[in-house]
Amino acid sequence: MEYEPVIGLEVHAQMLTSSKIFCGCSTQFGAEPNSLTCQVCLGMPGVLPVLNKKVVEYATKMALATDCAIAPYSQFARKNYFYPDLPKGYQISQYELPLAEHGRVEIDTDAGPKQIGITRIHMEEDAGKLVHDDYNPKSYVDFNRTGTPLIEIVSEPDMRSSEEAAAYLKILRDILVYLEICDGNMQEGSFRCDANVSLRPAGTEPFGTRAELKNMNSFRNVQRAIEYEIRRQRALLEDGQEVVQETRLWDAAKNVTVSMRSKEESHDYRYFPDPDLVPIVIDQAWISRIEQTLPELPTPKKKRFVDQYGIPVYDAGVLTSSRTLADYFERCVDLFPEAKTVSNWVMGELLRELKNDEREIEQCPVTPENLAEMLTLIKNGVISGKIAKTVFEEMYQTGDAPKSIVAKKGLAQVSDEGHLAQMVEQIIAEHPKEATGYKAGKTKLLGFFVGEVMKKTKGQANPSLVNQIIKDKLG
Ligand code: ADP
Ligand code: MG
Ligand code: ZN
Repeated sequence: MEYEPVIGLEVHAQMLTSSKIFCGCSTQFGAEPNSLTCQVCLGMPGVLPVLNKKVVEYATKMALATDCAIAPYSQFARKNYFYPDLPKGYQISQYELPLAEHGRVEIDTDAGPKQIGITRIHMEEDAGKLVHDDYNPKSYVDFNRTGTPLIEIVSEPDMRSSEEAAAYLKILRDILVYLEICDGNMQEGSFRCDANVSLRPAGTEPFGTRAELKNMNSFRNVQRAIEYEIRRQRALLEDGQEVVQETRLWDAAKNVTVSMRSKEESHDYRYFPDPDLVPIVIDQAWISRIEQTLPELPTPKKKRFVDQYGIPVYDAGVLTSSRTLADYFERCVDLFPEAKTVSNWVMGELLRELKNDEREIEQCPVTPENLAEMLTLIKNGVISGKIAKTVFEEMYQTGDAPKSIVAKKGLAQVSDEGHLAQMVEQIIAEHPKEATGYKAGKTKLLGFFVGEVMKKTKGQANPSLVNQIIKDKLG
């Protein structure tokens, strides 16, 4: 029997506010443990939380960017459970009345674009962090992270493969980073994902029992964990066994998921509206003001790049993966309006160099002006495409302008016809055998003569001119 995977993701994104969600403590990452805490985020008795308005604004931005309906009235709820990193004994989250619902994002699949539904987006606070001693049976707790603002984005179970899940995750992250409300850093945990995976016989409707996967801190790990889980569940079902509903942890070292605990049900948490916080009432005027601040988002930008510049979808996807990179590309095309040529250089040499140096486009030493100037030099025949690679390298190392590099290093193409003709005559005289061969019809020897000219000019002769001269001379 064929089985079809069904996948739904729960994503937690840390909002880039400077202070926490219910107190004034800083959200800075990596500070001295327990230095960024106060009575509120430590859960002392008698203190009162006060909602950070910026968090609501950021969450609303994400809701608008993913076509969610924003609730005119929503509420915080207490999710009760015990854990040493949760000093209050409950997490403030949203439950029955979340901020936003019924959204969608578009992903690219082999079969074309596909809509993935978003069930809900709600706001909540993060818990603290346990630090386990590797050598002693001891654990420490750092409360700096308690009260850090998060949004949780819950998807519909609309994905059917690990690739679709990765594509969904990527677009969510791109949107958050475009909106400048989350840094998207999976290693530091400011963008995290739990994956729910089940299988059902292909062609049937009802969903199978799901396992929830946690502890995946990279895109690669999310994809691998889902693939492992699909294989594991398929083996169970083929063996006539049942999948148990449970939470499983991804072990990146062993490449397996392992059972952590049986899955809790929401009634286990005894949710109830938080009596310390007033309901959130958002008026349409505020939503409209927020809407006006939204930038062009990755998917519309990608479509525009394809339409406006006539570049392939793949190129448009790479170039719009960050706002800064997209701006860089557009600035180059303004100055040198051959989009595909620009795209090739940006996606090729430029991104390769940046990747080697682990640099972002923001730290790129080659300005769009310099790249465009270099492309103009190629187009005008001043340098060849091959020499341009050397020029690019030098621009990247020094930040110098291409014209001055070409002048300083004497890289300009030799296009002096008289000079080249003289050189060709000399080469023919030095190689009578090859010249006779060519005249007798071995036209492949053209390459030999071109090669000799390039040797003498250190690759700087204008190739089409050289070809023409040799053909003329050998008749
Ligand atoms: P929780 O994990 O908190 O109990 P939810 O009901 O919000 O809660 O569901 C979590 C995620 O699981 C959602 O993204 C949903 O799409 C997904 N999901 C629900 N049922 C299944 C299923 N049978 N197979 C795969 N994913 C599922
Ligand atoms: Mg869950
Ligand atoms: Zn605090």
